[in-house]
Amino acid sequence: MAYEIDYIPVGDGEKSGDAIALRFGNLSGPREQQSIVVIDGGFKESGELLVDHIKNYYSTDYVDLVVSTHPDADHASGLYIVLEKLSVGQLAMHRPWEHADDIKNFFKDGRITASGLEDRLEKSLQYASDLEALANKKKIPIVEPFQGIKGFNDAVHILGPSQEYYENLLAVFRSTPEPKSVFGVFAPVQKATEEVVRRIQDFLHIDLLNDDDDTTSGENNTSTVMLFNLDGHKLLFTGDAGKTALLNAISYAESLGVSLADLVFLDVPHHGSKRNISSKILKKIKAGTAFVSASKDSPKHPAKKVTNGLQKHGARVFVTRGAALLHHNGGNMRGWGAATAESFHSIVEE
Ligand SMILES: [Zn+2]
Repeated sequence: MAYEIDYIPVGDGEKSGDAIALRFGNLSGPREQQSIVVIDGGFKESGELLVDHIKNYYSTDYVDLVVSTHPDADHASGLYIVLEKLSVGQLAMHRPWEHADDIKNFFKDGRITASGLEDRLEKSLQYASDLEALANKKKIPIVEPFQGIKGFNDAVHILGPSQEYYENLLAVFRSTPEPKSVFGVFAPVQKATEEVVRRIQDFLHIDLLNDDDDTTSGENNTSTVMLFNLDGHKLLFTGDAGKTALLNAISYAESLGVSLADLVFLDVPHHGSKRNISSKILKKIKAGTAFVSASKDSPKHPAKKVTNGLQKHGARVFVTRGAALLHHNGGNMRGWGAATAESFHSIVEE
């Protein structure tokens, strides 16, 4: 089956984000023989670019499925434009406030009520609640992307998060009250004081990514992890999922006998942050091609240690850095030139 995966550039400086469009099926046939999925929309400007891209290159204004991997602004805010300007068949997004009743007992303060929690979540996750309101207004059905859900004749499979893991993570969202100590394991990340970046040497035969501590945020770990299997071509999308979320997705896939070590394509989590990839993960998740969505002048995205690690495990790595990227199988190059793969860095951040 032919497919095109398009990364739209997002942000500048500190602000990376994700805006991805995918088209698969009979790409030279009529629209009915193709499926179109949008995964995150970056900020408002990248949302506009996504809309133009779909109209210009996919020649349609209908998107079958829009996925909001998690409620952070750099992924969710641009989707508002997509929902506003295109017609959309279905929206996949988590609705944190719908789980308030299930999680109200997770907190130290016994007076926390479901409706109090619902309010706090809705106010703090404005981009997600705006998206939900617009979908409701436009009568776009919403599904919560939990582990096990499949679509497009099973070509798309949600590997994570499970509903149980998701609800545990909600208890450590920035906007929820202090959880009982039992959730200490999900303790939220304290913003690190300005780290001194030390640099070290890297070599092809050594492994620097051996740290399994998960220090990404609860919000990031709720990211939808989604596997496409297009006639045996496996493509994995990860949002900003952290190590725990990825390991959960890997063990779920393994329990079904599905290997993630033979991917054609990997969407590198969290803009290539060194917080989200470990050596254990790179042994289980291997891809021929890996894309990183990182802003043009990002000081930390992607971490050189991460792009090196992916290369050590056999991937050719490409980074957006302000330019659109296309990976395709039987698609159309549209006259675009070939992108330059990331080279191996001999000096990396520690
Ligand atoms: Zn992000």
